[in-house]
Amino acid sequence: MSIKLFNTMGRQIQEFIPVEDNKVRMYTCGPTVYNYAHIGNLRTYIFEDILRRTLEYFGYQVKQVMNVTDVGHLTDDADEGEDKVIRSAKEKGKTAREIAGFYMEAFFKDLSLLNVEKPSVVCKATDHVDDMIKLIRRIEKNGFTYASGGNLYFDVAKFPDYGRLAMLRLEDLKAGARVKIDEQKKSPHDFVLWFTKSKFEHQSMMWDSPWGRGYPGWHIECSAMSMKYLGDHFDIHCGGIDHIPVHHTNEIAQAEAATGKKWVNYWLHGEFLVLSKEKMAKSAGNFITISTLIDKGYDPLDYRYFCLGAHYRSQLQFSFEALDSAKNGRAGLMERIARIREEAEKTGAEKVSPYAADTGAPGTYASGKGAPGTDDKAIRYLKSFEAHISQDLNVPKALADLWNLVKDGSVEAVSKYSVILAMDKVLGLRLGTAQMKKISVSKEISNLIDEREKAREDKDYKRADEIRNILKERGIIVEDTPQGVKWRKV
Ligand code: AMP
Ligand code: ZN
Repeated sequence: MSIKLFNTMGRQIQEFIPVEDNKVRMYTCGPTVYNYAHIGNLRTYIFEDILRRTLEYFGYQVKQVMNVTDVGHLTDDADEGEDKVIRSAKEKGKTAREIAGFYMEAFFKDLSLLNVEKPSVVCKATDHVDDMIKLIRRIEKNGFTYASGGNLYFDVAKFPDYGRLAMLRLEDLKAGARVKIDEQKKSPHDFVLWFTKSKFEHQSMMWDSPWGRGYPGWHIECSAMSMKYLGDHFDIHCGGIDHIPVHHTNEIAQAEAATGKKWVNYWLHGEFLVLSKEKMAKSAGNFITISTLIDKGYDPLDYRYFCLGAHYRSQLQFSFEALDSAKNGRAGLMERIARIREEAEKTGAEKVSPYAADTGAPGTYASGKGAPGTDDKAIRYLKSFEAHISQDLNVPKALADLWNLVKDGSVEAVSKYSVILAMDKVLGLRLGTAQMKKISVSKEISNLIDEREKAREDKDYKRADEIRNILKERGIIVEDTPQGVKWRKV
């Protein structure tokens, strides 16, 4: 099945064709670790996780690289302001390394709570300053840089393709129209590759370089680390939409100025999570974290489920009411799946294995070759699911396929459950953990249940049925299974 993705470069849906058969090399811009990730940031990582899982589902081997920014990201993307990590360290009376280490750990804990798969490579900026210096030297050798006021700048005028991703037209952009005028820059779009002097003299993290002791600009880290681990030309690069006009635009300029050829084939961007029409931002102080949600009694997977309800290219408005409804929706889904699972296990536990993508070459993947005995109807739902996720990750529709399958009483439980597990490989909702809750019942009810069991032992089926009906009236369903008597609330 071919996968179609919306490429920000060119703004159109395109069939995904990897550089190398079967393999996907993808880079996802990671966090700046000066604070907890807010749920807006996490929406972007959930989208990227769905992308990776979808590619894996269809049989691609994915190498995903994610950077961790622990130096060089200023409070303003256009080289203004202060280094975020260093500022946070000063505020909290810690070292920059302590701050970065603490928030990096917190970040990956959040990802695991959200069931976001860990990238194949996680790389910290401070561990790769040498690679950045090497890349800057290549850019410099090719004539794309100038020194000014102690810093080394990228000269966008030398790179005619500058701004193609963002559809910026340089000649239309007056100095100061979007980016503040910086006296040291020839053009407001020029950006720092290496700082030796800046507004903040007491930078605590500095390295020696051919341009003097200093530290790298933010954008160079992603170009350098992605090329180190994925090569000079790779498949996919993603991030949130805010990265289009500056960060990714500058990353492209740096990489292509160094190599002289096309860098990345597909650019994917996730839309923002917004809070009452404003964007959620760490700096605005209106951010909600996973801990906030846990403290309020939500499971992080409620938030994942909430995010899956919207297409990644649509803005998503957050409210606690909307999260409540996602929470209820997920609870209902898990309860139904628990019942299906129980039913399936009754019929034949050994047959329940996720009916998933076969291991054939991507593109030749065909539905319907799954677990023996998988019922045709269940497969039809899976095919629809696959068609939806392969169409630019249409997860809301894929989620509807899951619901339709779950609700279809005519599909036999073993097939149903194995298709549910297959769908979960993409959705990542841990659907396989759905289990009937052990419920506590009153003494009276438990006496009735015992009495019914005794009646059955005595082969007094009339009395057993009477009690079953009494229990039903009180909202308790009793079922006789090979594992014994089970009951649940209606
Ligand atoms: P940062 O840690 O600020 O570099 O951001 C990490 C990731 O979150 C980037 O991919 C951003 O584009 C993304 N991001 C930032 N704010 C939001 C938001 N409100 N909604 C969705 N993604 C966001
Ligand atoms: Zn980046």
